[in-house]
Amino acid sequence: MSQRTIERRGRNYVDGAWQEETRNARLFENRDPATGQLLSLYPDSRRQDVDRAIEAAQTAFSSWRRIPVAKRGEILLKAMRILESRKEELARAMTREMGKVLNETRGDVQEAIDTALYFAGEGRRFFGQTTTSELADKFSMTVRMPVGVCALITPWNFPMAIPSWKIFPALLCGNTVVLKPSPLTPDSAMHFVEALEEAGIPPGVVNLVYGAGKTVGVWLTQDPRVHLVSFTGSSAVGAQVGAMCAKTYKKCSLEMGGKNAQVVMDDADLELALEGALWGAFGTTGQRCTATSRLIVHEKVYKKFTDALVARAKRLKIGNGLDPQTEMGPLVSEIQRERVHRYVQIGLKKDKARLLTGGRMLAEGPHAQGYFYAPTVFEGSPDMTIAREEIFGPVTIVMKVKSFDEAIDVLNNTDYGLSGSIYTRDINRVMRAIRDMQTGITYINAPTIGAEVHLPFGGIKHTGNGHREAGTAALDIFSEWKAVYIDYSGKLQRAQIDDH
Ligand code: NAD
Repeated sequence: MSQRTIERRGRNYVDGAWQEETRNARLFENRDPATGQLLSLYPDSRRQDVDRAIEAAQTAFSSWRRIPVAKRGEILLKAMRILESRKEELARAMTREMGKVLNETRGDVQEAIDTALYFAGEGRRFFGQTTTSELADKFSMTVRMPVGVCALITPWNFPMAIPSWKIFPALLCGNTVVLKPSPLTPDSAMHFVEALEEAGIPPGVVNLVYGAGKTVGVWLTQDPRVHLVSFTGSSAVGAQVGAMCAKTYKKCSLEMGGKNAQVVMDDADLELALEGALWGAFGTTGQRCTATSRLIVHEKVYKKFTDALVARAKRLKIGNGLDPQTEMGPLVSEIQRERVHRYVQIGLKKDKARLLTGGRMLAEGPHAQGYFYAPTVFEGSPDMTIAREEIFGPVTIVMKVKSFDEAIDVLNNTDYGLSGSIYTRDINRVMRAIRDMQTGITYINAPTIGAEVHLPFGGIKHTGNGHREAGTAALDIFSEWKAVYIDYSGKLQRAQIDDH
């Protein structure tokens, strides 16, 4: 690893400078979840650190918003090139701090690269509407305006992709930002901000403050100088963030949990459905908001599909994500592993679900030092706790259904509404599934994971509050529409009154 990536003592980035060590700050440890090795220490920032970051963002806003949007887009393009040139190094550092396999961390960095490219292009579009007026000699149009200072609060499972979904559209629209990443993935946040700094983002436009959610996160959501909070994380925390934003009149976008299902119909290509289920349930060790934590399988293919799923789950190679042979890495932390194991106990004892494979921590031999867990498959029913609550680990619940209608009912029988998938070769079922699945993202003959950056990302019910990230939809989070009327008649004209 280069010197730049082994910053042992992480620092906040405020007003264009990496801050001297925060005196008396509590430090939190960043450990490799595959080996337990200590990678770096980061400050749990104090109130005054947050204050200074908000102040810097507030000051920088007045000049950044006036830079032409195409020029802001060019800086994004530079950041894209820097990220591209460091993709491998950044991916390796990410695998070390949060455990997912190298192919997936490469994908995470690639998603940030794609997002930068996409929003750099938006700098040459950034369209509004021109429209007519009901009055003569009057012209009207809409223009996008920045919102102001944005607090961006992010989770650990996509430590570069998710900050990029927020930062790039926020900057393009002319906002300034304070990023508070998850304490579990500080290195990736630092690498990302370093790339932005090198791309030429002016001081104060991007600020990075490390710390805990209940301190730094809360202070950001409470502060009246912050105009917008963009949060990605659990539904429980998102509800608190939303309530605080309502109290302080902030714009607020919430991207939260999921309990996603894949339907396998009797006419499905079973091998394809199986590959999709394995990737959807155990990719990122099940720690994706779009993970396939429920499998809804038609009774005619249930046994064949389930037997094959269990056999393949048992064969998955679990280990350090840096090893190219590894198919599934560790969970991100001991706390996360305990949470997963708690849900497995609920599945066994309270729900009385049938455990088909897994259900145990892996702590022997190569797994002794890390937070590994066996890929777990339960047979269950829709009313069970493990089929209703987000587990966020390598655990999936298979449920048997008799018909297409029952499959859609079970898929929709959840508080969440992020992603859903169906495997079938019947076009009528495909069209009805698209119409009837209550999800923000719907896949046909593909797993519940795998979103692309130019389409809107987000969900309904407890998953979101009506916003979408990525694509042009993200511009609607980070800008406000202004309606402009230009009267060139030279006289007072009254809408709804004259000529009526
Ligand atoms: P989390 O809710 O515990 O934390 C998310 C972020 O919020 C972290 O930075 C945390 O420090 C901060 N935070 C915690 N308490 C806070 C508070 N009271 N006020 C303000 N900020 C606070 O989630 P996590 O464990 O980091 O991530 C996993 C969750 O994220 C899962 O529920 C997953 O489904 C969800 N997620 C959703 C999406 C999506 O786009 N819908 C994407 C990825 C992850």
